[in-house]
Order: sequence, then C-alpha cells, then structure tokens
Amino acid sequence: MITMKHFSRFALLLAFGGLLQQCSYSQNKPATAVQNQSDSIPNKQNMQKENNPAYSTTDTSQVAMTEEEWKKVLPADVYYIARMKGTERPWTSKFENFQEVGTYYCAACGNPLFKSNAKFDSGCGWPSFYEPISKTSIIYTPDKTHGMVRTETQCGRCKAHLGHVFDDGPPPTGLRYCINGVVLDFQKAQEAEKQYNEKKGQ
Ligand SMILES: [Zn+2]
Repeated sequence: MITMKHFSRFALLLAFGGLLQQCSYSQNKPATAVQNQSDSIPNKQNMQKENNPAYSTTDTSQVAMTEEEWKKVLPADVYYIARMKGTERPWTSKFENFQEVGTYYCAACGNPLFKSNAKFDSGCGWPSFYEPISKTSIIYTPDKTHGMVRTETQCGRCKAHLGHVFDDGPPPTGLRYCINGVVLDFQKAQEAEKQYNEKKGQ
C-alpha cells in the first residue's frame, strides 16, 4: 500500500530528478564565496571515519560491505544518498557555492573523486564538476528510473551513489557531474591555502 507519506516523498524525488535532468549550465550566475564553512566540517568527518572501517583517503582497494554494515557506519543522510540512491534537496549543500581549493572525497569510503579546479557553478542547485580526479574514481551505470534515461555516477571504490553525469557541461570535457554534496567530504589543499593567505597579506 502506498501511504500519503511515501507518495509525497516519491513526488519530491520525481521533482528533483526532473530538475537534475533539465537544469543547464550557466556561466553568468555570480559565484558567492562561502568562507570558513570548511572549519565546521572536520568534526563530523572525524566521527564518521572512526566508526567506518572502510574509510581511507589512500587505500584504493575495493570496498565490499553489506547494506547492514553500511547502515551501522554511515550517518543517516549519507546512507540515504549513497546506499538508497537518494537525492538531496537542491541548494542545500554546503558545497554548492564553495570556492576553497582542495580535494573532494567520497563521504562513504574516502576515495578521492574531484579536484576543486574541476568544480564550476552550474546553477543547478547541486555541486557540479566537469571531470573526475581519475578515470577509475567513478563508475558509470545507465539509469532509467523516473521516466528518464540518465547516467548514474557511483564511487569507483565503494559503489556509493553520487549523482548523475550529463553532457551539457563546460569545456574542456563538456560534461556536468551533478553530485549530491552529502556524499562529498572536502579537504583543503594546505599549500594552496598558504599561498592564498600570503597573497591576501600583501
Ligand atoms: Zn566511496
């Protein structure tokens, strides 16, 4: 039986799926710098890492865990996106307007996914990138749910659902990786931060 609650959630998912499909890349939207947000992130990350045996930013071996094991080690919002293929509400991610220089990792397993220099302002409401950090960092799966034909992106190490990739992105790839910010961890590039602070101080 489909309850009203379930129906509402399904309708919302459909609406977001539609947005993901339709929104197009715009270069004109002014980027808003969000400062110091990263300072509040590490605590949550550290907790997550301590409880999660799969989490490593250097181990490249495949992660094979049961859904039950994932449920125990991932925060509920990460589990919902990564393992249930959920979609976060648009314009809710701290990474959507986020300009720090560094690396984005899979929040479920620590696999490096994107560099900040491949991030662009798509105007879609989700963090967007034009290329992954390497060919093997992401796997691609046809997704025919919600009456659309899309390409799902999953973490190449733990198969967490990340989002989708579309072919309306900017040069040089023409691709738009539309990624749920909930399944991303970010680490600042120490050297870049140092240079930025030195430049600012001049
Ligand atoms: Zn992963």
